Amino acid sequence: MNDLSRNYINGQWVDWSGDTLDVHEAGTGEVIARVPSSGREEMEQAIAAADRAFESWSESTLEQRIKVLEQLHAGLKERSGEIAETICREVGMPIKLATAIQAGLPATITKSYLKLLPDFAFSEQSGTSEVQYAPVGVVGCITPWNYPLHQVILKIVPAIAAGCTVVLKPSEIAPQSAYILAEILDGTDLPKGVFNLVCGLGQTVGDTLIKHPDVRMVSFTGSTRTGNLIAHAAADDFKRIALEMGGKSASVVLPDADLGAAVKGTVNNCLLNSGQTCTALTRLLVPADQHDEACELAAAAVAKMTPGNPLEETTRLGPLASAQQRDRVFDYIRLGIEEGATLVAGGPEAPEGCDQGYFVKATVFGNVKPDSRIAQEEIFGPVLSIIPYQDEADAIRIANGTEYGLSGAVWSADQDKAKKVASKLRTGQVTVNGGAFNPQAPFGGFGHSGIGREFGKWGLEEFLEVRSLQL
Ligand code: NAD
Repeated sequence: MNDLSRNYINGQWVDWSGDTLDVHEAGTGEVIARVPSSGREEMEQAIAAADRAFESWSESTLEQRIKVLEQLHAGLKERSGEIAETICREVGMPIKLATAIQAGLPATITKSYLKLLPDFAFSEQSGTSEVQYAPVGVVGCITPWNYPLHQVILKIVPAIAAGCTVVLKPSEIAPQSAYILAEILDGTDLPKGVFNLVCGLGQTVGDTLIKHPDVRMVSFTGSTRTGNLIAHAAADDFKRIALEMGGKSASVVLPDADLGAAVKGTVNNCLLNSGQTCTALTRLLVPADQHDEACELAAAAVAKMTPGNPLEETTRLGPLASAQQRDRVFDYIRLGIEEGATLVAGGPEAPEGCDQGYFVKATVFGNVKPDSRIAQEEIFGPVLSIIPYQDEADAIRIANGTEYGLSGAVWSADQDKAKKVASKLRTGQVTVNGGAFNPQAPFGGFGHSGIGREFGKWGLEEFLEVRSLQL
């Protein structure tokens, strides 16, 4: 059992002797780690440390910042095996994928900022004015469990690069990689107080962080419900906010598309990380006359997703991260049946042989009504809804017919036609004919999916205020 009863405040590990929170192994349900259920006082100490460190870090040179990020990148590479296994156990993502994504992506993103920074204009001329981009101040970062290190890196790397100081409150369900990160940063030249880690519950330490007057920005990834609380709290003293929240993304298959490729691509995307992915393509929109064939193809694709112990190389579908999440997904599958959708594959139970841990069968519903709850609400589990549509206008209306707008996909034999439809989707990202994920492209949501963008220069600009000198 990994005893992590400590917080990282002002460049030091501070032992914690109060209540702790259990971290469970997704594949077995066993307790594998303990972290502090810190109090408001620890969070206030961390914010004070970040506030003190801001004055000098905000004036650090670009070379200093780049050096720290190079050291961070080296540390992430060095400990990637440990990071992958830690997150595989906590979240349930199969080890092969966890190695590539959960451990690989944080290093890739850090590298992308190392490439971008030397050419980023922290000041520019506009007519007779000099426009300067200044760090926002102390940033509170609050993150969820599903890509626990990736989501942290997307905040702290550009924040530190911008000259901000940071207090991180990671997910209490998957906090261990944040400790690895703090250990790596502790070994770099980052001055004390620039990065602080406080672990605990959202309603205590998270609440203190989002309401504290010395925190000038909150960068949050998580549920729309918590994002809403943060937006309200931030309004009181006009904090800047960046919110990355939920999704209910549509994969639109046009009549001329390769149906087999579109269904396979959508199923793989939907089931990635057992559906615990905010961008998951959870609604498959197909022409009504291709609906039954799409259901057969989806059932066949799902049957290939071997469930099992995520630590095994052959596993393709792991468990969910917590018992609570598993039960929530079971409830949604029962709801889908009650709502009259056709159960094509799966159901509200664990796959055979997966009695321990938090497994859910990969589930496909056909004939789903666009306004039913399983087609409107984020399930965050391995559940795909296939929705028949009448014509292109109907498909676009259905795709845009939820409160979310995070991601989407369009499939067509004609790339230009696919792009035309993609441009009508009210969403922050659209994958055209299975186009690859690109960490240099901006990422974020329309509507209830978010405010602001992460990745690349867009992610860096979130942490910068604009000042113009009239000369
Ligand atoms: P959550 O909102 O319950 O928790 C996220 C974080 O917020 C946790 O650290 C939690 O402790 C904290 N928190 C909870 N209540 C708080 C409060 N009152 N004040 C301050 N902090 C509080 O989300 P979750 O269940 O951990 O994550 C799943 C959700 O995250 C899904 O809805 C998913 O779509 C979303 N998500 C979005 C993205 C994205 O980039 N758009 C990425 C991953 C996950």
